[in-house]
Amino acid sequence: MSILMFADERLADHRPPEGHPERPERLAAAIDGIHAAGFGEALTWRQPTEAPTEKLLGVHESQLVTALDEHAGLDRVQIDGDTFMSAGSMQAARLAAGAGLDAIDALREGEADSAFCLVRPPGHHATPRTSMGFCLFNNIAVAAQSLTQQGERVAIIDFDAHHGNGTQDAFFDREDVLFVSLHEFPQYPGTGSFDERGRGPGAGATINFPMPSGTTGDVYLRALDQVIEPELEMFGADWILISAGFDAHREDPLTNLGLTSGDYAAMTERICSYAPAGRRIAFLEGGYDLDALGRSAAACTGALLGERYAPEAQSNGGPGSHIVDAHIAAGH
Ligand code: ZN
Repeated sequence: MSILMFADERLADHRPPEGHPERPERLAAAIDGIHAAGFGEALTWRQPTEAPTEKLLGVHESQLVTALDEHAGLDRVQIDGDTFMSAGSMQAARLAAGAGLDAIDALREGEADSAFCLVRPPGHHATPRTSMGFCLFNNIAVAAQSLTQQGERVAIIDFDAHHGNGTQDAFFDREDVLFVSLHEFPQYPGTGSFDERGRGPGAGATINFPMPSGTTGDVYLRALDQVIEPELEMFGADWILISAGFDAHREDPLTNLGLTSGDYAAMTERICSYAPAGRRIAFLEGGYDLDALGRSAAACTGALLGERYAPEAQSNGGPGSHIVDAHIAAGH
């Protein structure tokens, strides 16, 4: 198996204020963790290109893109309570959104079996009309929308500890994008309840797992095996995109879930089995403990490569099974 790794030093030029958890050092931590795992020549590193405005407009309203463009090159612009822009943020945001588009093109050409976009700012909280929650553009939604414009059916699995509200909003009434989110609840941004299932032609194509504090990897795997895999089989995805946030790790300072890097290896293995080789792209979202982020990003990379790399044992015995049971009882 081979994997394209999209990374770029210019992504570190997005600089929120000192002390902000979504800091440039996150990328170096993820890359160091991946190098330490020793995957060697199986990894092909590549720099992304900036997403063109027309692709951003596939998801975002023009007023959002225009407003962020007006902030390009300015320092210390505050977008919301915890979302900021610095002089390099607009370029970083366009590169982060462009990585997925480049990954699609490269995988279509048969260049690799999967791609991992190690990008920031993250994307999954950015809605069609609002940048929020550390996110400027919704990187994974821009990629998914581009695929659907080419007639593809896309499944997005979001295992970041926070609900992917922006991605959900972008595709809530869409039949051709299946959105699955596993996240802590209650937690920022407050959405992602069990009853949010999609609307109109998209009814049933949004699936939320609002997990309690302390949920462990065995529950996530049950959700994948007993609910998500059958749903994906019915849906018939051509591509699988992963919102790979690693802040559900038990050492993460922002959340209270109980996962380990071993769980990320097992979960990513399962998810890879749902889509053919050459049709899998992971996007870095959150993950705020630098050591845990490095181990977890490496575990995810290993699984995308078809190699088991699990620096920590899988976790089990935590709460959350009732959420999986509720989906099964509801026939999801
Ligand atoms: Zn998160």
